[in-house]
Amino acid sequence: MSPNATDSSAILREERKITNGCANGWSTVSDSTDKRCWKGQAVTKINGIVDLVKHYGLRFYIVFWHELSMNPRVRSSPYSPPPADELVLSDDDVFSTRRRRLFFLSIHSLALAGLYMCVTGQVKLYTLLFATVVGTMSSIGVTAGAHRLWSHHAYKATLPLRVILALFQTVGVQYSIYNWVRDHRLHHKYTDTDADPHNSNRGFFYSHIGWALMMPHPAFESKVNTVDMSDMEADWVVMWQYRLYAPLAFVLSYVLPTVVPWWLWGEDLLVAHLVSAQLRQVLTLHSTFLINSAAHMWGIKPYDKNINPTENLLVSFATCGDGWHNYHHTFPWDYKNAELLDYKLNLSTLFIDLFSLIGWAYDLKTVPTDLVTKRALRTGDGTRQRTAVVADAAADTEQETTTATHVYGWSDKELPDEDRQIAQIYKKCD
Ligand SMILES: [Zn+2]
Ligand SMILES: [Zn+2]
Repeated sequence: MSPNATDSSAILREERKITNGCANGWSTVSDSTDKRCWKGQAVTKINGIVDLVKHYGLRFYIVFWHELSMNPRVRSSPYSPPPADELVLSDDDVFSTRRRRLFFLSIHSLALAGLYMCVTGQVKLYTLLFATVVGTMSSIGVTAGAHRLWSHHAYKATLPLRVILALFQTVGVQYSIYNWVRDHRLHHKYTDTDADPHNSNRGFFYSHIGWALMMPHPAFESKVNTVDMSDMEADWVVMWQYRLYAPLAFVLSYVLPTVVPWWLWGEDLLVAHLVSAQLRQVLTLHSTFLINSAAHMWGIKPYDKNINPTENLLVSFATCGDGWHNYHHTFPWDYKNAELLDYKLNLSTLFIDLFSLIGWAYDLKTVPTDLVTKRALRTGDGTRQRTAVVADAAADTEQETTTATHVYGWSDKELPDEDRQIAQIYKKCD
């Protein structure tokens, strides 16, 4: 430090003495002056903290609403976020990526605090059960709703069921149904290429969460507007959820899961928020992310060994049945999302089947077993014969079972007519 710097520090200290009327360090002034100084300093500190809270609170508010409405290309809601120049970042893309990183950092930090409370036994049993139920509902909203119903049209749903699924999906805070479907259709169309939003060939971290923290690949940008979303735009439930997404997600995913445990069984408000809202949301988010990462890397490939997606039991359990991913990429329009029906590892199929009993879910499409067998014999890795209960009606492997990969589902115009003809449709409604 230069002598000049020392001098100026001394001058500053002197000025502070005059301004505050008290000295720093060992003081020789009276107790009453000390008390005044202590109070003055405390008030100054509190004011500083309030300013800090205001400063970061405002920014967190901006980040939160931005993140919920997410993509500027489809952001047209009246609840769109405040202007980006609040944060003085001119490059909108860089800004968006930074916001997303900050958002993920904040939710993971809060979820860790919630995990700490669980581990140290500060959480009531009812709160844990409640968080599990809410997490399961949000998973079903994603798997049975955004995924099987809206992305793939693997079945149809009446208005009340679509509303229920839209609300469940909102609880998951995984973007609006519209955005989710658009990205997922791209994922099926261009699986594990640069146009796939979470290309698993770029490694586990990228396909799991990195893709959400980084700028999209130019190949993705060039393809994103080519996805046919006319069916989504024609479904007013989807568009209604899209327009109201930010306030809905805020209330359903954060406010209600915080207030209900506090109101009904007297859980501490902070504990309720950290466990039932934050930890629950982050865990369900990672469960879904595992489909893009683990279920594209680890597991057997009984139906098509030429693609990355695999059959992953743990991911199936964590996602209510969406980890049977080799089957799903081979037959994306099957409402069961799997060949074998095990409700324990496929709660979403149980959910759809239950609603089909009262007619709210109908036109449930699935693939006849003998055609699955033929496809497995033709392109599988040979593991199906050991895992499938059904004996192979095999032999005739010459007969081609089509089901091209690179179609995103039943509504894809490129789905071959043969596939439409071979499909078994339960609860058909003409
Ligand atoms: Zn899919
Ligand atoms: Zn996939």
